[in-house]
Amino acid sequence: MKKHLKSALCVLALSCTSIVNAAEINLKLAHSWPKGFPIFGTSVDEYAQMVEELSDGRIAIKVDSRNKHKAAFGIFDFVKSGQYDIGQSASYYYGGKDPDTLFFTTMPFGMTALEQYAWFHEGGGLELANEVYAKHGIEVMTGGNTTMQMGGWFSKEINSVDDLQGLKMRIPGFGGKVMSGVGAVPTNIPAGELYQALERGTIDALEWVGPSLDLRMGFHKIAPYYYTGWHEPSTELMYFFNKKKMDSLPAWARSVLLNAAKLTGFNMTVQSQHESSINWATITSEYPNINVRDFPEDVIDALRASNTALLDAEKERSDIAKRIIESQASYLENARAWTAIGDQAYLNNIGK
Ligand code: CA
Repeated sequence: MKKHLKSALCVLALSCTSIVNAAEINLKLAHSWPKGFPIFGTSVDEYAQMVEELSDGRIAIKVDSRNKHKAAFGIFDFVKSGQYDIGQSASYYYGGKDPDTLFFTTMPFGMTALEQYAWFHEGGGLELANEVYAKHGIEVMTGGNTTMQMGGWFSKEINSVDDLQGLKMRIPGFGGKVMSGVGAVPTNIPAGELYQALERGTIDALEWVGPSLDLRMGFHKIAPYYYTGWHEPSTELMYFFNKKKMDSLPAWARSVLLNAAKLTGFNMTVQSQHESSINWATITSEYPNINVRDFPEDVIDALRASNTALLDAEKERSDIAKRIIESQASYLENARAWTAIGDQAYLNNIGK
């Protein structure tokens, strides 16, 4: 029913709200971010609007931010229990619930965003993710990529592996495990509490995203060293759907919900690239005191060795972990060979 017709009927009705807002399917969505949080949060608002438009108002989604539900890392449980029908978060926040979820956001020394999208949608990655999440009654869909993340903000310069000993760093996911393997002390802290934790010295370093989101968080005011990336080359956010709810919906509604997630994810990825370009230009022109550094080669070597040892242990831990790790490794081998002769050769050829 068109909105103006609903409004006309509303004038005659006792309960205007129920008639104007009447959708056939009403769903609740929880995401991990503060209300209106740039890119990550606004992308979910866009998702809800897109679903409403694509369904001609037959599906309505109520979006709750962290401000409402108070549990940034509670999205997995919300959707699993059915308290919320849909969630949007990062899969690697839920390694404590199921260690096999750690593989579906990004991996240290792993695929870039485009390589990983190809793995998810053409190389069997999404099927593996859904196999892991099906055990929890959850169906998943890719939800948008940050593209390359920076290595993080450090209050002191890192010159050797010794400088990482006991270093308290906010770094989630597999990257955190790798850091632990070289002597650092990783922790995870929600977006809204990061600045305070670094300012108060609760942590010595943090990684958040990259130019797209870091500059507006103000980290450069309290940590002068900004390191280039190694641990999150392709951070993918994810939409979680309560499987029982999804299975109860007609095919058209499932299609709208899944395809809108995929399309919103595309928009978020493009926006991340755009915002990083703009904010990187701002960093170089307006904040010359930010010290941009690459980690020394021996630090990268130690991190890689830690990563390899952890992956070997994971392959022993579970059959599905082994299948996921081997799928990612074999896909990366082919994809990277093409990236090298494609993008990398092009950049080398033209000189800058
Ligand atoms: Ca990150």
